[in-house]
Amino acid sequence: MKIEKLVRDNIKKLKPYSSARDEYKEFKKDMIFLDANENPFINGVNRYPDPQQTNVKIELSKLKSVPVDQILLGNGSDEVLDLIFRAFCEPKQDNVITLPPTYGMYNVLANINNVEERTVQLTPCFEPNIAQILKAIDENSKILFLCSPNNPTGNSFSNEAVEVLLSSFPGLVVIDEAYIDFSSKKSWLKRLNEFPNLIITQTLSKAYGLAGIRLGICYASTEIISILNKIKPPYNVNELTQQKAVRRLLTQQKVQEEIDILLEERKKLLLRLNTVSYIEKIYPTDANFILVKVDDAVKRYNQLLEKGIVIRNRTTQPLCENTLRLTVGTKNENKVLIKALRDIAK
Ligand SMILES: *Cc1c(COP(=O)(O)O)cnc(C)c1O
Repeated sequence: MKIEKLVRDNIKKLKPYSSARDEYKEFKKDMIFLDANENPFINGVNRYPDPQQTNVKIELSKLKSVPVDQILLGNGSDEVLDLIFRAFCEPKQDNVITLPPTYGMYNVLANINNVEERTVQLTPCFEPNIAQILKAIDENSKILFLCSPNNPTGNSFSNEAVEVLLSSFPGLVVIDEAYIDFSSKKSWLKRLNEFPNLIITQTLSKAYGLAGIRLGICYASTEIISILNKIKPPYNVNELTQQKAVRRLLTQQKVQEEIDILLEERKKLLLRLNTVSYIEKIYPTDANFILVKVDDAVKRYNQLLEKGIVIRNRTTQPLCENTLRLTVGTKNENKVLIKALRDIAK
């Protein structure tokens, strides 16, 4: 596959903006920096941040065994996904394929970028419908979004389905692995170099517990990463975020302990949800949330809200009639949730 052919013409021709910090990067202690119109008085953040976020990438590279030049960071995965749209999708001409019910941002970004979204519903067991996807594509189909584990359904897609799509889709395949750290399935990262059209996104917002700092991660071929680097705002990841991310990435044991607790809590929640009379179905989950089907989602949502518990009503999503999405909380939060779910049955 020729990635070059997928890139928008204006992006191909683009000469990236070169920031002061791009032109002179080496921070030697005895240098005097009078190039970026910064305030010289030191307060920890008076200098512009590293536009390439090298320290964060070095830690990610060690952790994930992916070279630094195959990593791009953004202000949340949402920025990374937007960059992918802007680099590859010509407005009013190209299209992207999404598989609802899924993460709502793909639709929002398609609309913002004025790019047609072609939706192909998942099968009733929430797997990609390969035949229908292949039918929906044409020569302007640039991106296929696979969210696995999928939000809001919670399941991971079968390896076979993903592999077929990676091999047969004529554009880029973005696998959104926001929930991969909770999954029993392996990340597709190990196979990144087998598929030139593969882009994997991850985030520090979920398992890493850093939703507030906004750090999204994109792994792809060096060719795709260099295209995205051309259009990313120079200082898109701020200094505080970079520092906090590095510290968190260096405390893997703590991160893993939290994941283990949440997985244990998920197991307990699944058992206890079974005892709630009006829960008609509990969907299998590979993420830190559980989708359940109830008798009346709006009614149950409002009853929980009255008890001070906020969950997500997914009833308007295709295949999700009367479903609620419950995030796994702390041991105590989950206990309160189960008690409330039982109380409102009466
Ligand atoms: C939560 C979530 C994200 C995270 O987005 P950030 O912008 O990195 O916080 C990405 N994809 C999916 C499917 C999600 O549910």
